[in-house]
Amino acid sequence: EASEKSFDKHKIMRDDVIVGQILGEGFFGEVHEGLYKSPTGERIRVAIKTCKDCSADVKEKFLSEAELMKNLDHPNIVRLIGVIEVDPVWIVMELYEHGELGNYLVEQQHILTNTTLLLYCLQICKALAYLEGLNMVHRDIAVRNVLVASPECVRLGDFGLSRYIDEQEYYKASISRLPIKWMAPESINFRRFTTASDVWMFGVCVWEIFSLAQQPFFWLENGQVINQLESGVRLPKPQFCPPKLYSLLTQCWAYEPNARPSFSQLVCSLSEIHRIEVEQ
Ligand code: ADP
Repeated sequence: EASEKSFDKHKIMRDDVIVGQILGEGFFGEVHEGLYKSPTGERIRVAIKTCKDCSADVKEKFLSEAELMKNLDHPNIVRLIGVIEVDPVWIVMELYEHGELGNYLVEQQHILTNTTLLLYCLQICKALAYLEGLNMVHRDIAVRNVLVASPECVRLGDFGLSRYIDEQEYYKASISRLPIKWMAPESINFRRFTTASDVWMFGVCVWEIFSLAQQPFFWLENGQVINQLESGVRLPKPQFCPPKLYSLLTQCWAYEPNARPSFSQLVCSLSEIHRIEVEQ
């Protein structure tokens, strides 16, 4: 019954959606900006994901992301507004007009303070602690998958793609898209994805944030990364990264998955580091 309710809650009518200009190209098709009139008459700015070559099995994969997001409710996770399940299939999400965090870090680098960067890390960590509590694995944590809702608030997005597309296919479909440089050693070696491998990826995402969106290991080819990791090499401390934070990152990058901290532990440590930074 509970799932039926959430189904209804997310069922919306096409007539209530006005489609605007293209925001970007998604994995399945164009993403448009738009306006949604809710049943209470509220007008909400939205992002509309469309599905280009939507055969039955592609459609199922496309909708699996929305299916997963229906169960999520967190201030630092992209909010699903609704789904139109008849052709043409649309996924309608809340619009975050500042766009991807990766681009935002580059564009706003001159006004971003360490306190703000730490706030973003803490918010992403809280979103991941929430997923950890739901036993959900994200698998693609990177600044390209975080959206900026306001200068003080980021939201984790891009759910499910890698989780629902079975591993074989993920690998085949996107050898070049597989985010090797973000991945834990056991994910590269055995395609093993767990909350502990999410913790590793979160560490890389924090590195990206403090490097203002440089690509991790940009000095290596994908094929060289696993050798480096196995000989103990890790990403270096970004110039403005507080030493206490870098020490936390090195824990996230423990070779042994069990030796890495949990997200709930990371929330505590990051809150403390953020608090110290604010008080300075
Ligand atoms: P996919 O995960 O299917 O590849 P993306 O999520 O990468 O698609 O979306 C494609 C483009 O649309 C990206 O440039 C992204 O920044 C933009 N976009 C997606 N969702 C939103 C949103 N809710 N608010 C603002 N921009 C968005």
